[in-house]
Amino acid sequence: MKDCVFCRIIAGEIPAAKLIETDVVLSFLDIAPVNPGHCLVVPKRHVATLLELSQDELNICIFTVQRLAGAAARATGAVGFNVLQNNGRCAGQIVPHVHFHIIPRSPDDGFKFGWREGSYAEGELEEVQRGIRKLL
Ligand code: 5GP
Ligand code: ZN
Repeated sequence: MKDCVFCRIIAGEIPAAKLIETDVVLSFLDIAPVNPGHCLVVPKRHVATLLELSQDELNICIFTVQRLAGAAARATGAVGFNVLQNNGRCAGQIVPHVHFHIIPRSPDDGFKFGWREGSYAEGELEEVQRGIRKLL
């Protein structure tokens, strides 16, 4: 896609620090890393979200994520990592070409998710469960 920054990286029109490249996926270092070694895995086919990937593409992406996560963590001396995948603007997706973030983590690296602990009203959990199961 012409206006997509990741398609332009895949096409070689924009430089990137590439890590793994196959017919199906490309991975490269994020230009604005949360921590050193923060990398991205993207399918070469332009689709916006996780829901549009084929099963083969998804398998290859997640296998690449696993391979890269270990290497990125070890290479940067990290002792853990996060795999993050945003879908939609409201979920923090800025680049509308599906991608997986791998973020090496260390104790006291100062990065925090704004996680919260919500709760369900009486009966709401079961209702949500039924709603999801109906659509599977
Ligand atoms: P999102 O918020 O869409 O999940 O994340 C997009 C990521 O792409 C961001 O972490 C951002 O730093 C990274 N990014 C955006 N433009 C470029 C670029 O031109 N090169 C590289 N290497 N990363 C980019
Ligand atoms: Zn694209």
